[in-house]
Amino acid sequence: MVDIKNLNIEELKDFVKELGFEPYRAKQIAQWLYKKRIKSFDEMTNLSKKARELLSRKARIDILKTVKVEESSDGTRKYLFELPDGNRIESVFIPEKDWNTLCVSTQVGCPAGCKFCLTAKDGFTRNLTAAEIVDQYIHVQRDVGENRRISNVVFMGMGEPLLNFDNVKKAVEIMTHRDMLDLSTRKVTVSTVGVVPGIDRMAKEMNKVKLAVSLHATTDEQREKIVPMNRRWPIGEIMKALRRYPADNNRRIMIEYVMLKGVNDSLEDARRLVKLIKGIPVKVNLIPFNPYPGAPFSPTPREDIEKFQKVLWDHNIAAFIRDSRGQDISAACGMLRTKEKKSA
Ligand code: SAH
Repeated sequence: MVDIKNLNIEELKDFVKELGFEPYRAKQIAQWLYKKRIKSFDEMTNLSKKARELLSRKARIDILKTVKVEESSDGTRKYLFELPDGNRIESVFIPEKDWNTLCVSTQVGCPAGCKFCLTAKDGFTRNLTAAEIVDQYIHVQRDVGENRRISNVVFMGMGEPLLNFDNVKKAVEIMTHRDMLDLSTRKVTVSTVGVVPGIDRMAKEMNKVKLAVSLHATTDEQREKIVPMNRRWPIGEIMKALRRYPADNNRRIMIEYVMLKGVNDSLEDARRLVKLIKGIPVKVNLIPFNPYPGAPFSPTPREDIEKFQKVLWDHNIAAFIRDSRGQDISAACGMLRTKEKKSA
């Protein structure tokens, strides 16, 4: 059985050929899957009954099952999905005034182990397939309705995308191909904890989408304590990778910086950050830490975040404070974690 959403356009063409269909059928099938978002091959009414039956025997369309949907007071919706093997993942729909963003997961759990992140607590189970990533989009788009089109996708849900490079790359290809989900490449963001070989591969193979790097600290000593992966790829290595990355002022790298009270939020940190990123075309996102019960950190007070931001602005670095959305349903950054375990 082929998960048909694992196939990018070239692979779909090959698959269609193997089944003995005319080449133009690939585009038709892609339209049914990604534009009309049908649930069964039976709905592909411009294919013969025989063709539809053959497809149903060889391939599968929907992979995820929606277990639960929660809506926050600000309109953010959190989805809990079940995978065919019983594992569960989450996605978050974030409506904005002029656009809608979907935050997708790329792994079941996460191997990065960041100390302030709830997902890390469950450890790592496995990579998601491309189909399991793309299916998050399809399911959410069907649920919110076609008049609320998802225009932006951020790979910032559970997992480390660059440790699942091949499947993330294929999901991006499906999301951005004209005959498939047709999202603008500039509206797709892949966020990494700083996997240097992955950043270098992105530079070569996936540089049309936006790169975000979760830096969170300005010295190795500090960063190691909150981002254990720093031992493998320390700040200096990450910065070198960013300096060789094909970015410019129209295509800036995003630096994510979660503000942890008394840990990484001093004005000295802000000044060190300025030095680190000097000469790299970046935009800095200051993320207020989203606390959860038992969290070993607390959020930096707003006025201190603003002071930190001002140091960056004073050095001509674009820095924004990200609003926290969906906090009341634990859908905010770093809060994704399946609370309900599957009952046996
Ligand atoms: N592994 C990737 C993508 C998933 S995490 C990465 O590290 O970038 C997405 C973002 O949420 C990261 O910047 C992460 O550091 C941040 N984050 C995790 N837990 C958080 C929390 N409790 N509060 C605020 N941001 C958090």
